[in-house]
Amino acid sequence: MIQIESLEFNYPQGEFRLSIPRMTVEHGEKVAVIGPSGSGKTTLLNLIAGISRPRQGSITVANQRISDYRDARRRNFRITEIGFVFQDFELLDYLNVIDNILHPYRITRALKLTRRVQHRAVELAEGLGIGNKLKRYSSELSQGEKQRAAICRALLPRPRLILADEATGNLDPRNKGRILDLLFDNVASSEATLLAVTHDHELLPRFDRVVDFLDYRNDAA
Ligand code: ADP
Ligand code: MG
Repeated sequence: MIQIESLEFNYPQGEFRLSIPRMTVEHGEKVAVIGPSGSGKTTLLNLIAGISRPRQGSITVANQRISDYRDARRRNFRITEIGFVFQDFELLDYLNVIDNILHPYRITRALKLTRRVQHRAVELAEGLGIGNKLKRYSSELSQGEKQRAAICRALLPRPRLILADEATGNLDPRNKGRILDLLFDNVASSEATLLAVTHDHELLPRFDRVVDFLDYRNDAA
C-alpha cells in the first residue's frame, strides 16, 4: 500500500531533516508509528498524504507514485483515497459538525454526496457518541468531540488508507476504546490500511507492527 524509497525531506526553514531509506506498509496492515515529539511523525504522514513533497526519493501509495504528481492531482488523490485524521483536527469553524463531516464531498466531484452517504455520516457520528452534536459549530465542541468529528470525516468515504495522527490523544479511556474499535472495524470492513501515530503504548498490541522514529533520527542535522 505504501512504498517509500530514499526519501529526503526538509522544510524551507529550520534545521529539521527527515531521511527514510526504505519503508513499506502492506495492504491491510495496521501499523503504529511512535517516536518522540518533533521527530517527524506528522511530517511523514503529510508526505504520504501528498500534502508535502519530498526533496528526493519516491513515495508510492496504492500503486500511484504520488511524489511525482502535481499539486491538483495529489489533492484529488488525497481526498478520494486517504482518510486523514489531523493532529489539530482541521475542522472548519464556519461549518457545523455534520457539514464538516460532509465537506470533502462538497469540494470534489470525485465523491458523490448521496442520501446513503448522508445516512452513513449520521451513523458514524452516532457510533462515536456525537450524534447529538451535529448542528454545533466546532468552537462549541470539546477537544475530544472535535477529534471524533475529524475521525467521522476521515472515515466517511471509506478510504483505502487511513492516516491517524494521535487520533486518541484527547480522549478519556472509555471513548478511546470506543473510537479505536470503530477505527479498526472500519479498517477491516473496507479492507483499508491503517497508519496511526500514537503515544499510547497500551494500544500498541492492537497493531500488526510498530515503526519507531528513533530509527530515522538524523543526528547529522
Ligand atoms: P512530530 O509529529 O513527530 O512531533 P513534526 O513532524 O511535527 O514532529 O515536526 C518535525 C520537526 O519539523 C520539528 O522540529 C518541527 O519543529 C519541524 N517543523 C514542522 N513543521 C514545520 C514547518 N512548517 N516549517 C519548519 N519546520 C517545521
Ligand atoms: Mg505530530
